[in-house]
Amino acid sequence: MNASQQDVRKFRSALLRWYRHNRRDLPWRRTRDPYAILVSEVMLQQTQVTAVLPYYYRWLQKFPDFASLGRASENDVLRMWQGLGYYARARNLRAAAQILATRYGGIFPADLAADRELPGIGRYTANAIAVFAFGRSVPLVEANISRVLARLFEIKLPIDSSAGRVRLWQLAAALLPSRRADRFNSALMDLGALVCISGKPRCGACPVSGFCRARSPELLPVKRKRSPMRRLVESHAFVIKQNRILLEHCSQRWRGMWILPRLGSVPAIARPMHTSVFPFTNHRIKLLVFRRRWQGRLAHRQRWVRTHSLDAIPIPSPHRRVIAEILSVFPGRLR
Ligand code: SF4
Repeated sequence: MNASQQDVRKFRSALLRWYRHNRRDLPWRRTRDPYAILVSEVMLQQTQVTAVLPYYYRWLQKFPDFASLGRASENDVLRMWQGLGYYARARNLRAAAQILATRYGGIFPADLAADRELPGIGRYTANAIAVFAFGRSVPLVEANISRVLARLFEIKLPIDSSAGRVRLWQLAAALLPSRRADRFNSALMDLGALVCISGKPRCGACPVSGFCRARSPELLPVKRKRSPMRRLVESHAFVIKQNRILLEHCSQRWRGMWILPRLGSVPAIARPMHTSVFPFTNHRIKLLVFRRRWQGRLAHRQRWVRTHSLDAIPIPSPHRRVIAEILSVFPGRLR
């Protein structure tokens, strides 16, 4: 696409015409509440819309505003986030709510610079709130828009490099209309989500194909080489006594959540009662769980949890699955 002003105007018209008939009806598009928009934007980082929807509704019911989130315990916040992954997002949301309550009287500042001082709020999130809550005309660059722009302008720079990011933000700003940036940015996102999809885009159905420079769009966008997947083996204990399970408060990967107690060394001949594999960022983790007898002493950060109270505490999905599986397979014998 040649970005002359006339082309830009035609591009916007074609895109917005398509958007009028094809837009996704998403709940966070029906509100101007900065809190609800912030929650949706944070949940959507690294997570698909379909996975986010049930969490979004449940979260707003439990924590309808900054004040209720700021007052909530970390335990409750992590439990509501449980299953969405990347739990630092939940902790940051709660920390941001607490700062807003103490420093800004619970009101979200309409000032972009202040927004970016809140934990977990970077350029994209601050701009998204400015656009969707306060009607500002500022550009947005997220995964869908990055892919669309990389193809429209045939950008060969890796989109996750600093030079690539600078270029994308420049292009997004150059295309932006001075009014109704909410509609325009949503239209670009929906084009990326529905037509200019990753892998093989649907160019035959694309409303802006006449503006697109990509000759081999399926090869775009280019990304930096990922560090190779690392394999880890982690061993944990399953200890149960009188319908109570021994759990450990995690201080590392799942900070603030409860996991099966970690085991240091395990004899090579020991047979695990459970084996599974789960991904975590660029790791592939083999989870081994061994039956252990109660040693009569609680270690640091450990506590007993009644099996019927497990739903009340935050447990990361891989460990929750193990517990559910073991309890369902060996209910009587183990307890
Ligand atoms: Fe994407 Fe194809 Fe449309 Fe270009 S023509 S923007 S590659 S869907």
